Amino acid sequence: MKISDYVIFTEKEVIDMEYSFTCPTRGCNFSVKVNTQSDDWAVEKIIEVSSVHDRQAHPNLPSMTVQQIRNIVLLDVKERVRI
Ligand SMILES: [Zn+2]
Repeated sequence: MKISDYVIFTEKEVIDMEYSFTCPTRGCNFSVKVNTQSDDWAVEKIIEVSSVHDRQAHPNLPSMTVQQIRNIVLLDVKERVRI
């Protein structure tokens, strides 16, 4: 391994977290995964994608609020990190 490779590796040593969101609607398998180190960024992306999904797949259901989605996403991440 060259020294330059090692430096690049240590700069990226913090491992991305995998955030995921699965559509809570019964029978719907839609899910989103985002790899990042930022809770806020992950939630923002998931909300972006899932709101489009809601409009297309479940136009008759009320959309989840930002806070509801955020709670689901962050709870899921914390559960997996604990393992
Ligand atoms: Zn769905």
